[in-house]
Amino acid sequence: MTQSFHLVVLGGDGIGPEVCDQSVRLLKTIQPHLDGVEFNLDPHSVGVGEYQRSGEALPQSTFDACLASDAVLLGAMGLPNVRYPNGKEIAPQLDLRERLQLYGGVRPIRLFHEDDTPLKGHGAGDVDFVLVRESTEGLFYGRDAVADLEADEATNLLRITRTASERVCRLAFETARRRDGKKKVSLIDKANVLSSMVYFRHVFDEVAKDFPDIEAEHIYVDAAALFLVRRPQDFDVLVTENMFGDILSDLAAGLVGGMGMAPSGDIGDKAAVFQPSHGSAPDIAGQSIANPIAMHLSTAMMLEWLDHPETRRAANALNTAIADVLSDPTQRTADMGGKLSTVAITDQIADRLNYHL
Ligand code: ATP
Ligand code: MG
Repeated sequence: MTQSFHLVVLGGDGIGPEVCDQSVRLLKTIQPHLDGVEFNLDPHSVGVGEYQRSGEALPQSTFDACLASDAVLLGAMGLPNVRYPNGKEIAPQLDLRERLQLYGGVRPIRLFHEDDTPLKGHGAGDVDFVLVRESTEGLFYGRDAVADLEADEATNLLRITRTASERVCRLAFETARRRDGKKKVSLIDKANVLSSMVYFRHVFDEVAKDFPDIEAEHIYVDAAALFLVRRPQDFDVLVTENMFGDILSDLAAGLVGGMGMAPSGDIGDKAAVFQPSHGSAPDIAGQSIANPIAMHLSTAMMLEWLDHPETRRAANALNTAIADVLSDPTQRTADMGGKLSTVAITDQIADRLNYHL
């Protein structure tokens, strides 16, 4: 019997549709090689473009399709200079995260070639860890707080709850267990200063007891920023608060070639959205020079997450095809010093995919 996977495809804004179209092309390359699996690709229009067309950046029917889907593949949404009439940023990616309760941002960071890292003396395989970012609360909880202009001050709340902390810590330990890594989870916090983080640490330690096969450690976020640069090979899985995760994931992307190399999966209990960690990059949109690797790696994460033997085989083939292409440092897009277009580097990956499937 054929298993059909309903995959909602949201190109979005800026370079979003450019990179997303290329991942869809790879899914269509993969499809005929799979036994008993069918991709039902369901594209929807979202983002600033859709807001300008219909008045809604994330139409209800699209939200419902995401909720009913097996997974969502997203390019990028938002454009910095288009805002709602009240001046608020149009950020449907945050709305989607909140409304679908996507509590865990899973961001694998992997170095494919020594030429791609600014770190001296590190080669492929030395940087290979996963950052798990709590995505529903923390310092983003208070993002809508209104500044009191009379009082000449402004405050944002940092919120840590048991429910959110427990599920994201569990996701981190499960990720460590599934990986072929060091079987270690590092909690990145600031428990020496913030009482909310003392509580986060307390919940982390409780969850750690359920995973005796996985080593658990605590690192202050400032020290973690240093260690990520000085000895990235020590990390396996990191779990952290929303804002710390936001900042550290850009730092981590910088270790392996930049935003174009950083995939992500936003995981919830009812839905999962796979997208590159970067935004819509309007400065390079429409020029066919965007790096699609983060998008393709996110697609591989999605295939693995669908958790069917055939989609897992496809995920391995896609990851291997990407590694094959990147093992030659001349095969790069402009952001990484190369000359290949978005389509040309995908052509190379598609060639290798046919070989590995
Ligand atoms: P967000 O607010 O969504 O995080 P941002 O303002 O941080 O977005 P990004 O769109 O993530 O900005 O990217 C910052 C810059 O990095 C872009 O303007 C672009 O020059 C570069 N960049 C990002 N992604 C890519 C990519 N896939 N290929 C090439 N360059 C990229
Ligand atoms: Mg950013």
